[in-house]
Amino acid sequence: MSIRSQFTLFSNQELNTPTPFIYLDNAATTQKPQSVIDVITHFYQHQNANVHRGSYNTANQVTARYEQARVNLANFIGAKSDTNIVWTKGTTESINLVAYAWGETHISDGDTIVVLGSEHHANFVPWQQLALRKGANFEVVNVLENGDLDLAHYQNLMDKKPKLVAVQHCSNALGNIHPIKQLTELAKQVGATVLVDGAQAVAHIKVDVQDIGCDFYTFSGHKMYGPTGIGVLYIAEDIKHEVNPFHFGGEMIQSVTIEKTSFRPIPALLETGTPNISGVLGFDAAVKFMQNEQTQHDLASTSDLYNYLVSQLSQIDKVRLLGSTENNIGVISFVVDGESVADIGALLNEQNIAVRCGHHCAMPLMQALKVNGTVRVSLAIYNDKSDVDGFINALKKSLDILC
Ligand code: PLP
Repeated sequence: MSIRSQFTLFSNQELNTPTPFIYLDNAATTQKPQSVIDVITHFYQHQNANVHRGSYNTANQVTARYEQARVNLANFIGAKSDTNIVWTKGTTESINLVAYAWGETHISDGDTIVVLGSEHHANFVPWQQLALRKGANFEVVNVLENGDLDLAHYQNLMDKKPKLVAVQHCSNALGNIHPIKQLTELAKQVGATVLVDGAQAVAHIKVDVQDIGCDFYTFSGHKMYGPTGIGVLYIAEDIKHEVNPFHFGGEMIQSVTIEKTSFRPIPALLETGTPNISGVLGFDAAVKFMQNEQTQHDLASTSDLYNYLVSQLSQIDKVRLLGSTENNIGVISFVVDGESVADIGALLNEQNIAVRCGHHCAMPLMQALKVNGTVRVSLAIYNDKSDVDGFINALKKSLDILC
């Protein structure tokens, strides 16, 4: 079965009317293969029960599948054990969870937190706000003209001996891949705790969290062919004892009396209440899809399709590409000087082309690049040359109208 045909959304007649629907907004969220949809539907139609509390067969079967998904996910990202994997709603929740469950007790007045200037707001604002609450210094690594981080500045900031370094693995706005192992090593040399925002990375790069050496690694199911509302917080073995409970309630407790409550260890400690069971099972199916189709096989920037997209775009007068197209997960951002990106997006939409236009939840990066926003085109495993050709033709037509 071809990869594209596994995504039934693309054969929806309504979506493809009057012209074929071209989906190039994969950095926002990917489409879901039928295998993921089937697993979720099957769960509700045939196996619905809560996990970890049943005394009957169905509940026990669901619990076994749910916990097996954790084992599979741990193997997928090279974690030491399934107990390093906490299910969350997604990257944003994972990062905020660390900001409270770890940050509240480990960041104090005068400490330093370092983030990159290209962070998504989800890995920027929680740390900025934590720093404000605690009186800590919030340091932001400069962005170079091509969108890469200024490594010399990063190294200088390490002299401040930060308590926490929170860095993205790849930029969502530009797609460039940061030297995450090197950044982690430099931070570890000065004793920092390291959190990596892998939201954009895992769909495209084979991630090995132990090889990277970070303390926390976070990502979302929906950006890697899985459902929305489910994500992962990886917590390395050595840092587990520094993480406190954040939400209190069912499932995370060992015992409760009127006087006192004792808690279970991670991951249960951080998974209070009934979890997103169908989301976990759907996520597991997405991981299987990625493994079967080897979606992380070729780095996107070495792929013919990405190079074709970049070369076609570069030939259009007035289009100014932003960011480095080498070492990239398959994203390209551009502006047309003097034209609003919202207008370009609207004209592309009229031609049934889905791209993202705006600041991409990375306003500090837009400020560094001196633009208000960009048009972002992001590829996934099911895109093909006809998508790129359709997009390029539609863009040319849009620019004829605007310019
Ligand atoms: N970090 C990065 C780099 C992202 O691209 C995104 C989403 O676009 C997020 C964090 C937030 O992810 P979510 O909305 O799934 O929580």
